[in-house]
Amino acid sequence: MTADAQAPVLVLASGNAGKAREIEALLSGTFSVQPQSAWGISSPAETGLTYIENALIKVRHASANTGLPAIGEDSGLEVDALGGAPGLYSARYAGDDAGDIANLNKLLAALKAIPPRARTARFRCLAVYLRRPDDPAPILCEGCWEGMILDAPRGANGFGYDPVFLVPDLGCSAAELDPTEKNRLSHRGQAFTRMREALRMVAAEHASSRVPDGR
Ligand code: IMP
Repeated sequence: MTADAQAPVLVLASGNAGKAREIEALLSGTFSVQPQSAWGISSPAETGLTYIENALIKVRHASANTGLPAIGEDSGLEVDALGGAPGLYSARYAGDDAGDIANLNKLLAALKAIPPRARTARFRCLAVYLRRPDDPAPILCEGCWEGMILDAPRGANGFGYDPVFLVPDLGCSAAELDPTEKNRLSHRGQAFTRMREALRMVAAEHASSRVPDGR
């Protein structure tokens, strides 16, 4: 979270600590990103059939409950040998209350018979910014990170499926990257780098609409 008192406040519509750390780092300096937990807001049910719908549900919920502009995303891991699963359902692949380890173990079991060259996959992220809950023109930015699924976990950084996501060019897993390097390459890094550029204009609008001192 940035310490800049002049930076406009954005509510971050996520209860996922791993994502929140990455997004705060990606937007720091331009906006003051505050987690929705600071208002005691919990995550809504993700009932959409697309990343866009789920991202909008989450961000609209955060904006409606705070009266502030909100930012967030929906993301997932798409494995070609599984027809794109777990995709939209990545967070609940092994069940509604499943954690990262159960999800990752289910994925490794599902791919047991699949040879290395056929274990292609990608992370996808759809980031959304809403000025207010009924904003008819949200800003949407997407990012996509291609890789392969390893046959065993490697590394201790990151979260979710990072330990089994091989970054082919580097020959290491996403969990073996330091946080800055992951943000430079990842689906979330791509989406929020684009978002940060789009939001510079919003920050400029915000600054020019401020009432000058003494009036
Ligand atoms: P949701 O966007 O809240 O539905 O959750 C997305 C899920 O996709 C996460 O809980 C992870 O399981 C997975 N995921 C998304 N991005 C990443 C990532 O950067 N690393 C590892 N797993 C991820």
